[in-house]
Amino acid sequence: MSKYVLALDQGTTSSRAIIFDQEGNIVSLAQRPIDQIYPHPGWVNQDAEHIWEVTLSVMKEAVQQSQLGISQIAAIGITNQRETTILWDRATGKPVGPAIVWQSRQTSHLVDDIFRRGKAERYQQITGLVPDAYFSATKILWMLEQDPEVRRRAEQGDLAFGTVDSWLLWKLSGGKVHLTDYSNASRTMLFDINELEWSDELLADLNIPKHILPGLCDNSGIICHADSSILGAEIPVAGVAGDQQAALFGQTCFSPGEAKNTYGTGSFCLMNIGEKPTHSKHKLLTTIAWGINGKVEYALEGSIFVTGAAVGWLRDGLGIIKTSEEVEQLASSVKDSGGVFFVPALVGLGAPYWDQYARGTIIGITRSTTAAHIARATLEAIAFQTRDVVEAMIADSGIDLHELRVDGGAVKNDLLLQIQADILGVPVVRPTMTEVTALGAAYLAGLATDVWADQQDLKAHWKEDRRFEPSINADQRESLYSTWKRAVERACRWEKP
Ligand code: ADP
Repeated sequence: MSKYVLALDQGTTSSRAIIFDQEGNIVSLAQRPIDQIYPHPGWVNQDAEHIWEVTLSVMKEAVQQSQLGISQIAAIGITNQRETTILWDRATGKPVGPAIVWQSRQTSHLVDDIFRRGKAERYQQITGLVPDAYFSATKILWMLEQDPEVRRRAEQGDLAFGTVDSWLLWKLSGGKVHLTDYSNASRTMLFDINELEWSDELLADLNIPKHILPGLCDNSGIICHADSSILGAEIPVAGVAGDQQAALFGQTCFSPGEAKNTYGTGSFCLMNIGEKPTHSKHKLLTTIAWGINGKVEYALEGSIFVTGAAVGWLRDGLGIIKTSEEVEQLASSVKDSGGVFFVPALVGLGAPYWDQYARGTIIGITRSTTAAHIARATLEAIAFQTRDVVEAMIADSGIDLHELRVDGGAVKNDLLLQIQADILGVPVVRPTMTEVTALGAAYLAGLATDVWADQQDLKAHWKEDRRFEPSINADQRESLYSTWKRAVERACRWEKP
């Protein structure tokens, strides 16, 4: 009998549930948006209960749509927006406040403290991360410092911390498990990626009580069973990984040197670096790709905070397009950006700049500039930021990039991928299956439940849809890129010069 896997993809802007068959094809897909809360400039919050309710509803919808019997679903795999921080009451299961989303800058001052105390390098040695408000650690601290009552309950052992994976595991299991996987743990800035355990040193440094942290689990293996009240049967939850690591797995980048870039709210370029956690000298992150059967593999990551979200800003903030898709048509209506450069540092800049005080900058505007030029400059900005991290990756790994595998919500935009190939100077390759994040979670769960035999089996499913070849010459490419670098200089440290 054929087997199916249900993947839950809890992203920043939406929750998706996708059922895959054994060929890796989509049988059914349900998706609903996640409400964003912006209480102050630079803050991004979500309601954890809402995240769960939306995820639950899409899960039920996908099962119903598929018309499968529940016994045909061999396993559930989870993938999630990473770093987003939730603190909840162990007894009631209720969150103690809003979830602080990875993009939120509300803890920048706490990160400044780490730098001021001269501890940044130590954090990087232990966690592989460049200290930033992006990661969970200062978000937890913020929650504890906001309210003495929250701190007291945390000290007493009444509260549990989790990133979204832990929260979903807790909810799916009916409050039975409090766990996180290696990939998500490595994004908290509290996990020692060399020793593979929570860092007592960093917990003490930030005064975070250890007992609020979840236990650790492998990325592939039976973690718990979904409570039968949820789908009518106890289905094993057998795979979990942060969204970017799941995408790396879904793109079957299993060997050192293989890389992918995902274009969603932000963009995340990851390269598999094998079993040793090489530390970056060019401000990339070293992170855990996955731990399977006790073997942990690492990745170098360039995290870019705002790419697709800049297109979202053209739509919601500027109002020059009605849907994100429209950006392609608008940007295609001009042959170039007319000298306009847009540095979309809307929440600061991530890799390789790590400037939490950078702000969005549009420069080069003249009287002939139109909305179309700004739209085109936005797509170019997505591509320039990718080039910034790819250059750092090549320098760190010593491996030349021969092609870039791409996925994520924005890769249906052909113009974006052509611009990307032009600016990188290497082919950009889009697979037929672009839901690789969900697919990666399904693969992890299916490997543990005999849906797929091994990683070789998975590689056979990867198929190319379209290859975008560079179409401009090196001089044009380098001239555009050097102007981009000048524009970035203007955006940096705008808030705190
Ligand atoms: P996430 O998983 O980060 O929530 P998705 O992978 O669903 O996000 O991608 C959604 C993002 O991609 C949004 O920020 C949206 O503005 C952007 N986007 C969607 N379609 C396009 C498009 N055709 N061109 C450019 N950007 C797009």
